[in-house]
Amino acid sequence: MKIAIAGAGAMGSRFGMMLHQAGNDVILIDQWEEHVSAIKHNGLKAIHDGETIIENIPAFLPKDITDYHDEIDTVILFTKAMQLDDMLQSITSILSEHTTVLCLLNGLGHEDTIKNYVAKENILLGNTMWTAGLTGPGEVNMFGHGSVELQNIHPKGQDAALELVQVFNEAGLNCKYSEDMMYSIWRKACVNGTLNGTCTILDANIASFGSTSVTDEIIRTIIHEFALVAKHEGILLDEEEIVNHVKSTFDPHGIGHHYPSMYQDLIQKHRLTEIDYINGAVCKKGETYQIATPYCQFLTQLVHAKEELLKAK
Ligand code: NAD
Repeated sequence: MKIAIAGAGAMGSRFGMMLHQAGNDVILIDQWEEHVSAIKHNGLKAIHDGETIIENIPAFLPKDITDYHDEIDTVILFTKAMQLDDMLQSITSILSEHTTVLCLLNGLGHEDTIKNYVAKENILLGNTMWTAGLTGPGEVNMFGHGSVELQNIHPKGQDAALELVQVFNEAGLNCKYSEDMMYSIWRKACVNGTLNGTCTILDANIASFGSTSVTDEIIRTIIHEFALVAKHEGILLDEEEIVNHVKSTFDPHGIGHHYPSMYQDLIQKHRLTEIDYINGAVCKKGETYQIATPYCQFLTQLVHAKEELLKAK
């Protein structure tokens, strides 16, 4: 399959590497010049569970992609949420009526942005439990195991979705076709919405956040706000199951000792966060539906205040 990775950062590089190694014809698109230049000159380098792999994968800056004329079967979107619209604008030249576009970003509401550029029949939504980190230009750290779920948003997209599930599985990405992707997206947003902003503002890892006397009330209230808004969109979240799932992450022998990615982005690297697409998206939708979401609103404001204090970019 001819696949373009739109946003070849940590996750895009990981998926690009695994799909390339499985024999697909992969290209990488990214705006970070040193990263693209390092991949062009030295190949994409990955440390995969301690082992070093280097593969030559064509890499492009967005401004150079207009010169690319091969037909792309699938675009995988892997920017941060606030970068999605710019990315879509810059890749319109490779989007044909036969190109399927899969969005694997965290957060809510990306389909509304993608619909401005891609026909509904060609849009797939998904999410992933794989993780990755960039260690420098052209270098990605791929560790642990994960999974992917995806689904078409229009019945006509089902064949393309099933084909992509197979391609992902051949690449070892542990993918399944979801019968209810919107539920999974909201469930994952609840996990991010309870852990990311809170750990970032409290300067706590997941286990420490889990250990306080007020944590239970905070996560229940946030999940309840998500559930009220989701219900308005026809998605009935099982709040108790999600609360228990979030609590299972507090185990210090599991991922409890980790700091969520928002913490790493904002506190460690002074990068802007995806809060507007997680708790912020729930507030915005809540305003439209006249549903009060005070915890989500306050957390969104606190994270924005922290972004300002740290002059995040
Ligand atoms: P990242 O910042 O490492 O990668 C995004 C890349 O997109 C960057 O390299 C950036 O230069 C590029 N980019 C942004 N706008 C662009 C544009 N207009 N044109 C060209 N390139 C552009 O982010 P990431 O960690 O790979 O995360 C991507 C998404 O996956 C996020 O929504 C994140 O929440 C989600 N996610 C990440 C992980 C993880 O472990 N890193 C796990 C699961 C989900």
